[in-house]
Amino acid sequence: MMDRLELQKLRDLPIEGVAERLGLQVTRHKALCPFHDDHHASLSFSVHRNTYRCFVCGASGGPIDLVMKYLNKGFRDACRWLSLSPDPSPSREGCAGATKSPLYLEGDRGRLSFDASRYERFFERPWLNDEARKFLFDERRLDPRVVRWCRLTSWKDKQGVPWLQIPYYDREGKLIGLQNRNLIKGALPRFRFPQGAECSIYNLPVLNLLKSGETLWITEGCSDCWAMLSAGHKAIAIPSATLLKRKDAEQLSIINCQLSIKFAMYPDSDVPGERLFLQLREVLPMLEHHQLPVGCKDFSDYYTTQRVRPFV
Ligand SMILES: [Zn+2]
Repeated sequence: MMDRLELQKLRDLPIEGVAERLGLQVTRHKALCPFHDDHHASLSFSVHRNTYRCFVCGASGGPIDLVMKYLNKGFRDACRWLSLSPDPSPSREGCAGATKSPLYLEGDRGRLSFDASRYERFFERPWLNDEARKFLFDERRLDPRVVRWCRLTSWKDKQGVPWLQIPYYDREGKLIGLQNRNLIKGALPRFRFPQGAECSIYNLPVLNLLKSGETLWITEGCSDCWAMLSAGHKAIAIPSATLLKRKDAEQLSIINCQLSIKFAMYPDSDVPGERLFLQLREVLPMLEHHQLPVGCKDFSDYYTTQRVRPFV
C-alpha cells in the first residue's frame, strides 16, 4: 500500500506533464478535452493549483483523477501507473552527472533542443494498444522480447489516431530522440517527431551486448532493425534515406574503431539500397553484402513473408 507521503508525491506531479504523458497536447495551459467531442481546447490547466478543468463538460480534478478518468482505471491502478514513472525533476540521476559517451557526438545542435525529460516517462512502462499489437505481432511478426527491449509504446491522440512511439537511446541508455509512427495504414502524416528530436542511429544500446568478433547488422529504418533482432541478430538502423548523413557516417566510423566486430547488411532490393551499401562501405570497408531473395524488397519483407527463417 501507498503511504500518505507517496500519495502526496503523485498529487504533486505537474498536471501538464501528466496530461502530456497521457498523450494530450498541451499548449499555453490548454488542451482539447478528451472527455467530450472538443474542437476548441476547452480543457484548462491550473499550474498553480495543479488541476485541470473543462468548461464545457465539467470534467475536473488533479493528476490522479486525470489518469483515472482518461485511462478508465481505479484509484489504486491510476496511482500505480503514475508511480511507476520517475519523478520528472531535472536533478534525477543519469541526467546531471552522466558522463558523455565517446559515441555521443558533440555539437549535435539538433539534439540540444530535444527535452528528453518530457518523454522519458513514456517508456518506463511501455503499453501497447490493440493497433500496436496488431502491427507489431500480427503484421510484423516481431518477437515480444525485441519489442520490450526497444521499449516500444503506444498512445492515441485527441482524434483517436493510434501511434506507435519509438524511443532512440544512446549507448548509455539515455533518451536522445523519439519517433511517432501512425498505426493507421496509409494515413498521413506517417511519422511525427517531437520538437528537436533528431533520430539518427537506432538501437545503440545493442553495442554493449556485442562480443568481440560478433557481427553487427546494419539495417535501414527501425522496422528492418526489429525484424533483424527478431531473427536473433544484433542490429542497428540508420535512418531510411537516400543519402547517408555525414554525422551518421562518423558515428559508424567511431563504432568501427572502438569495437572489434564485423558488419553485415542486406541492402534493399533497389538502386537506392545498393547505393547506400556502397556509401556505407566507404566508412566500413569490411561491410559484408548479403542478397535478399528475389521478390523481397527489404529485410522486413523477407522476415515477415518468411519463406524461411533466414537464420536459426
Ligand atoms: Zn470536456
